[in-house]
Amino acid sequence: MTDADCIFCKLAAGEIPSTKVRETERVLAFRDLEPKAPTHVLVIPKDHYADAAGLSAADPALAGEVLAVAAEVAESEGVVEGGWRLIANTGLGAGQTVFHAHFHVLGGKPLGPMLAV
Ligand code: 5GP
Ligand code: ZN
Repeated sequence: MTDADCIFCKLAAGEIPSTKVRETERVLAFRDLEPKAPTHVLVIPKDHYADAAGLSAADPALAGEVLAVAAEVAESEGVVEGGWRLIANTGLGAGQTVFHAHFHVLGGKPLGPMLAV
């Protein structure tokens, strides 16, 4: 299941390059192009879902696998002790810019308050 116009579908298919951090049959983790912290990795299902809610509604097992890979990335990036944050911006108002489900794994520095207000 892919969307021909979706940048993360193309990335999952290897049609555009990315710096891979971890990969399973159904999940890919890669470094964000514009990192907001020393560790900034995106974890996506290879199949196309518009957002995290759509993913979890359609395939809860895959959503769980994505979360498990996010935790493995935090381990391998060495950010567990210092703390890390998992973000799924959902909808335009939340700042979602790519409409293929993805989770940001952020860490490697003190992350401050949850929201800039
Ligand atoms: P959102 O704003 O939708 O939550 O997050 C989208 C993220 O995808 C942004 O942090 C942005 O930097 C990242 N991004 C957008 N296009 C690309 C790309 O082609 N490659 C990579 N590695 N990251 C991308
Ligand atoms: Zn997609």
